[in-house]
Amino acid sequence: MRHLFKKTLLPILFSGLAVIPSQAQQPLLGFGANAAQKELDLEATFDKQLQANNLRDWMKRMTAFPHQLGSAYGLNNALFLRDKLASWGFEARLDTVHVLFPTPKVRILELTEPTKFKASLMEKPLKEDATSAQTKDVLPPYHAFSANGDVTAELVFVNYGVPDDYEELAKLGVDVKGKIVIAKYGGSWRGIKPKVAYEHGAIGCIIYSDPKEDGYFQGDVYPKGAFKNESGVQRGSVVDLPLAPGDPLTNGFVADATHTRLSVAEAPAMMKIPVLPISYGDALPLLRALGGQVAPATWRGALPITYHVGPGPAKVHLKLEFNFDIVPCYNVIATLKGSEFPDQWVIRGNHHDAWVFGAADPVSGAVAELEEARALGELIKTGWKPKRTIVYCFWDGEEPGLLGSTEWVEKYQSILKDKAVVYLNSDGNGRGYLSAGGSHTLEKFLNQVGRDVTDPEKGTSVIERLRSRMILNGSPTARQEARTRADLRISALGSGSDYTPFIQHLGIASLNVGYGGEDAGGDYHSIFDSYDHYTRFKDGDFAYGVTLAKTLGRSVLRFANADVLPFDFTNFANTVQQYASEVKKELENARTKAEDHNKMLAESRFEAAADPKDPFVKPVALSVAPYLNFAPLDNALVALENSAKAFALASSKFSALPADKLKELNEILYKTERKLIHADGLPRRPWYRHQIYAPGFYTGYGVKTLPMIREAIEQKNWKEAEEGILRVSGVLEGFVGEVERATSIK
Ligand SMILES: [Zn+2]
Repeated sequence: MRHLFKKTLLPILFSGLAVIPSQAQQPLLGFGANAAQKELDLEATFDKQLQANNLRDWMKRMTAFPHQLGSAYGLNNALFLRDKLASWGFEARLDTVHVLFPTPKVRILELTEPTKFKASLMEKPLKEDATSAQTKDVLPPYHAFSANGDVTAELVFVNYGVPDDYEELAKLGVDVKGKIVIAKYGGSWRGIKPKVAYEHGAIGCIIYSDPKEDGYFQGDVYPKGAFKNESGVQRGSVVDLPLAPGDPLTNGFVADATHTRLSVAEAPAMMKIPVLPISYGDALPLLRALGGQVAPATWRGALPITYHVGPGPAKVHLKLEFNFDIVPCYNVIATLKGSEFPDQWVIRGNHHDAWVFGAADPVSGAVAELEEARALGELIKTGWKPKRTIVYCFWDGEEPGLLGSTEWVEKYQSILKDKAVVYLNSDGNGRGYLSAGGSHTLEKFLNQVGRDVTDPEKGTSVIERLRSRMILNGSPTARQEARTRADLRISALGSGSDYTPFIQHLGIASLNVGYGGEDAGGDYHSIFDSYDHYTRFKDGDFAYGVTLAKTLGRSVLRFANADVLPFDFTNFANTVQQYASEVKKELENARTKAEDHNKMLAESRFEAAADPKDPFVKPVALSVAPYLNFAPLDNALVALENSAKAFALASSKFSALPADKLKELNEILYKTERKLIHADGLPRRPWYRHQIYAPGFYTGYGVKTLPMIREAIEQKNWKEAEEGILRVSGVLEGFVGEVERATSIK
C-alpha cells in the first residue's frame, strides 16, 4: 500500500482565491441545511450498525482456502457474497466473463556454473500459520503473463531493473544483451523490470525480494515478526499494465460473436521474455556466484555477501512453461435501485480474488465493503430509500491484471458512460492513517467525509490525524500546506487496482481509499498473507476495517442522497495549475541540463577514442529543449479557475432548484470528468484516455499527471509535447464549458 499524502509538493497557487473557510465551518457539500441534518442522522444510524466481528468471521471464511481466479473456492466465495447481498435486499447476481489466465506448468531455475544449485521455488509451511501447509489449488510463486521460455545464459545483477539502472550499467561497461538479469523488487512496479530488461536485449528475468527492503533488515521475520522470511515470495502479474489492463487477448472489448480474441502470440501486452519471482533464500546462491565489478553502493542489499554486477561467472538455466487457459471470471454485482434517479449509479467496488489466501489483499477491504452493504440493508428495513441507484461490486481476476473490473467496464461501457456518477474503490486495508487518491473534483468531498469519521485510536477525525502527521513529518512545503490549506491533498491515481478502467478508460470520477502505515510486513502476494498473519500483525481487532466501512459507506450514502452531487472544481483547478507548473519546470530543467553539458563539452578537448569499444569515447552534444508555447494551457487554466470560482459562488442556490433543473444540473456535474478523456487516448496506448492522470509508461502503477505533455518532455519528444499542450488545453476548455453550463442553470 502506498502512503498517498507523503509526496513532496510544490507551492500552491492561491492566486486570487477568496479566503478559505476552515473545514469545520463548511456546510455539507451537496445538501441544504435541513437535508444535511437528516443525512448526518442517517450516517450516525449507519455507523451504529457496523460490527467488527462480522469482518473477522467473513475474513476467516473467505481465506480458508486458496481463492484465485478460476479456482473452486473463488467461485464458492463469489456465491457466498452474492447470497449475503441478496439476503440484505440487494438484487444480486454473478456477472461472468471469460478471460485468459496463465498458470505455471514447468518452473526450473538452476545455477549451472561455476557451481551447481537448484532453486526450491517453494514457500515453506509454518506450524504457526494454519493455512500455510495447504497444497491443493495453491498457485506456486510465478508471474502471470510471463512468456514461455527455456534459456541458459550468464547472469547480471541490475539493481531494481529500471531505466536509470541500465544507464549506470552502461557507465560500468556492462551489457545485458543475451544475458539473464536478476533484479530486486522495489523501485517500480514489477512488470516494468522484465519489460526494460527485454528492451535492453536480456533473454530472461528473475525478480527477488532483498531482505533490505523486504525481510530481516526491516524487522523480525515471520512467524516471529511480520516481515518476509527466507522462503517467502511475492507473486504477481507482469502483463504490460501501462499499455492496457484487462484480458490482453481482448483489449478494449469483450470477446463475443463479433469480437474474437487475439492469440497469445499476438497479444501486445504479453511479456516477451520468461520472468520468475524468487525468495531471498533462493537468490543468495545466485548472487554469491556473481563476479565482475562490485555493485554501486546504493545497489547493495542486506544479504551477507559483497554484491557484484557480473556478467558471470554465474550462469543460470531458466525454464518456464504455462497453461494458457480461458477461465470464467465471476464478478458479483448487487444493486439497490434508486427511488428518484434510478439511472444515476453510485458504484462501490473491491476485488475478491487473491493470489493465494489473501487476507490483507483483498479480503480486508472486501469484508469492510460487505459490512457496508449489510448496514445499508438495515437502513432499508427502517424505510430509507436511496435517491440514486447503489451498485456494490466484488471483482474477480484483479490480481492477474484487473481482468474482472476491466472486462465488466468494457462490456457495459455505453451504459456506464451514461449512468455512472462515481466509482468508489478499496483494496487491501490495514491500520493507521487515511490514504486517498482520486479525481480532484472529489477532493473537497473526501475531506468532508474524513472530517466526519473518527480515528478509532486517536479519537480525532481521520483527516485531523493525517494533518498532524503531515505537519510532523512532511516536507517543508507539505507542512506549510497542511497548516494553511483547508483541504488535504489527495493523490492522483495511476493504476494498480480496479478504479483504473472507470477513471482511465471511461472518465468516471473515482476515489481509492484505505488505511495503513502501521501494518508493515512481508506477506504481500505470498502464502503468508493469511488470516493468522493479518490478525497478529495488521488490523487484528478490525477497528480500521470498520473505519474503512464508515468512510466509504458514508461516501456512498452522500452520493446516493445528495440534492446536488458533491463535486467541487476549485481544488481541481488548483491541482491542474500545480501539474502545469511541474511540467514547465521539468522542461526548464531539461534545457539547463543540456546547456550545461554542451558548454562543458565546448570548453574541454575530447579526442574520439580509436577503439569503439573503449568506454572513454567522446561524449556527444545533447539536443537542447526548445521553448514550448504554453500559452494555450495557461489560458485554459485561467478559464478553469474562473469557472470553478463562479460555480462555487453559485452553488448555495442550487438546492432550491426545481426537480427537473436539479436533475439536469446533476447530469452535467457527474459527466464533467468525461470531458477529461480524449477519444484517441494517449500516444501509443489508446486504451488510456484520461488526459490529466495515467500510469507512467516506465513506472507502472506510479501516476504521471498531464501524461502526454510530461512523458513527451521526459522522452525529449518536443513535437509531441507541443501537441500534448494543445490536447490538454482543448480538453480543459471542454470541461470549463460544462462547469459554466452547470453554473448558469436556474
Ligand atoms: Zn488487491
